[in-house]
Amino acid sequence: MNTQQKETYNFQSEVKQLLHLMIHSLYSNKEIFLRELISNASDAIDKLRFESISSQNLKNKEPKIQISINKSQKTLIINDNGIGMTRQDIIENLGTIAKSGTKSFLKSLKNKKDNIKNELIGEFGVGFYSSFIVSDKVLVRTKFAGNPSNNGILWESSGEGQYNITNITKKTQGTEITLFLKKEEYEFLETWKIKNIVNKYSDHITVPVEIQMYDEKNKIYFWEQINKAQALWTRNKSSINEKEYQEFYKYLTNDQNNPIVWSHNHVEGTHEYTSLLYVPEKAAWDIWNRDNKHGLKLYVKRVYIMDNSQEFLPNYLRFIRGIIDSNSLPLNVSREILQNNSITQNLKKALVKKSLKMLEKLSQNDNKKYQSFWNQFGLVLKEGPAEDSENLNLIAQLLRFSSMRNNNSEQNVSLKQYVSDMIEQQEKIYYITADSYMSAKNSPHLELFKKKNIDVLLLSDRIDEWMMNYLIEFEGKKFQSISKEDSSLNKFIDEKSTYQKETSQEINEFLKKVKQVIGNKVKSIRLTNRLSETPCIVLSDSNEMSTQMAKLFTAAGQPVPELKYIFEINQEHELIKKICKITDNKIFEEWIKLLLDQALFAEKGNLDNPHKFIARMNKLFIQV
Ligand code: ADP
Ligand code: MG
Repeated sequence: MNTQQKETYNFQSEVKQLLHLMIHSLYSNKEIFLRELISNASDAIDKLRFESISSQNLKNKEPKIQISINKSQKTLIINDNGIGMTRQDIIENLGTIAKSGTKSFLKSLKNKKDNIKNELIGEFGVGFYSSFIVSDKVLVRTKFAGNPSNNGILWESSGEGQYNITNITKKTQGTEITLFLKKEEYEFLETWKIKNIVNKYSDHITVPVEIQMYDEKNKIYFWEQINKAQALWTRNKSSINEKEYQEFYKYLTNDQNNPIVWSHNHVEGTHEYTSLLYVPEKAAWDIWNRDNKHGLKLYVKRVYIMDNSQEFLPNYLRFIRGIIDSNSLPLNVSREILQNNSITQNLKKALVKKSLKMLEKLSQNDNKKYQSFWNQFGLVLKEGPAEDSENLNLIAQLLRFSSMRNNNSEQNVSLKQYVSDMIEQQEKIYYITADSYMSAKNSPHLELFKKKNIDVLLLSDRIDEWMMNYLIEFEGKKFQSISKEDSSLNKFIDEKSTYQKETSQEINEFLKKVKQVIGNKVKSIRLTNRLSETPCIVLSDSNEMSTQMAKLFTAAGQPVPELKYIFEINQEHELIKKICKITDNKIFEEWIKLLLDQALFAEKGNLDNPHKFIARMNKLFIQV
């Protein structure tokens, strides 16, 4: 190919969308372009450092990032001596978007307001394309390290749909980016301004970032280093202040909020490593996306290896951000090696413990902060009991619930507190699962518990039923669903009531008749003393599938066996007393069927045939 030949390419459609967004939706935080470019330069240097371990012809001498300002040309130039790009690289990297999450990210922006859009864009880190927020035109001169100097590439674009590529000669390896600033953005030609931005966002870059200065007296240019260029986590804990930890977090994650808590550890011994783990204040926008890229940034002996290595934390801790720097993993580690590696397994074990301990400490030291953590990430943490049986106890300590006694939908009761508030003779932790807080709170199953002042945990998140399958006991106390049959409750039921003694002839007759009407629809029929306000109720047999679990199965398209309930009747209730006296068999039948439907409705929140239920009710109304 002719070296000077210029070729024009179209941006991929997602890039066009992104560029359009960048240029046209008023951007509140324009300076992040510099953070993005410096971070790319630093990545390029990290990549070179990594590649040069195995490749003799790649040199990694005095890595640095240099920024210079040309006031007369109105340009800002960011130069690095990292890995650089080949022609093919540049087409792939600066003409398309490789990140898998970008499409869904763009979709999530669609109907958002500008200020929210801006915030999300900042969080997502739109990368190289953010240069067009402040530039009319961008030139990229690059040469892949190890290639001869006639293999340089010039990429140019004004960000409007197309870009040009020309082969050029470039002596030095790495990438030089020239921004032709828009008229309104000339403030970025001020040295102090650039220094400020670098300090703010890029102080933790491990590579030196230098800016070109002019010495008026001697009339010479010189380079001044702006950042510290030492990896924060390698420093001694006692030498790092809170602000530095926070700034490092922001640099690492692009999050604009401070983390709520962090944990920094140097561990020596067989698996020497350093970890720095953070809990964010807010959940990332894609925390519920299946392809959510969570995970820690991995370093081996200070050398950057990869982002988002998910092997070190389980899914239920996917909100945790941070770095792990291992001395025992090999430098040429790949994702495949990581997955089947006993060192990874050991590190993961340790990091899970560290994370859970960090949360436990937070819950003990700062209830308010812990509550806000729970409100953000509780649902994620609730995946823990199913995913990590080894740490079940620690996870259980961290769970928070709404409870009947609390009378408030906020999930803020710990199991520890529940147990310490248990009444005399109470041996179990009682809970109910339902579709919503309101429906749990108003369930007739609670009547006995209210009367006896026994607290009940009210669970209404979709995952709760699933989670409760894995929570068997806490501090020796068994969990018990109150919508299931439970003989341990008998001791709370008033002996002196009419119930057991006077199962009179009349009542026996009544029960017999009820059996004839609905005996084939339920598992068994009996009198109850658990109820006060409600005439009847259905319970699940202790070893049968619960109603909520059946719903989960149905929602997931799984077959569910027909559920048969225990039907309990409150003979003290006025309505039951009245029905007892009905002599017309047809009408009696209608009433009993209505009662069963009522109880099923209360339990399941829906009916197989609501029309029949309504018609029957109306028919009976007319007769009253
Ligand atoms: P990201 O950094 O998240 O991958 P960017 O849009 O910032 O996304 O950059 C896209 C890609 O362009 C990078 O992944 C990298 O391959 C390439 N790139 C950008 N800047 C440089 C640079 N200074 N040196 C080498 N490659 C670069
Ligand atoms: Mg980038």
